[in-house]
Amino acid sequence: MNIELICCPICQSDLEKKSETQLFCKKCDREFLIKNDIPILLKERI
Ligand SMILES: [Zn+2]
Repeated sequence: MNIELICCPICQSDLEKKSETQLFCKKCDREFLIKNDIPILLKERI
């Protein structure tokens, strides 16, 4: 899957790949987990 196409569910800006299991949004300062290659894009902080 192409991780660069994924945007933040809160602010819709591009997410940065922080690690193999983490995405990060610079704009709203949130981290999102990637589980089994699927990003967990929840509005709540995990
Ligand atoms: Zn965001």
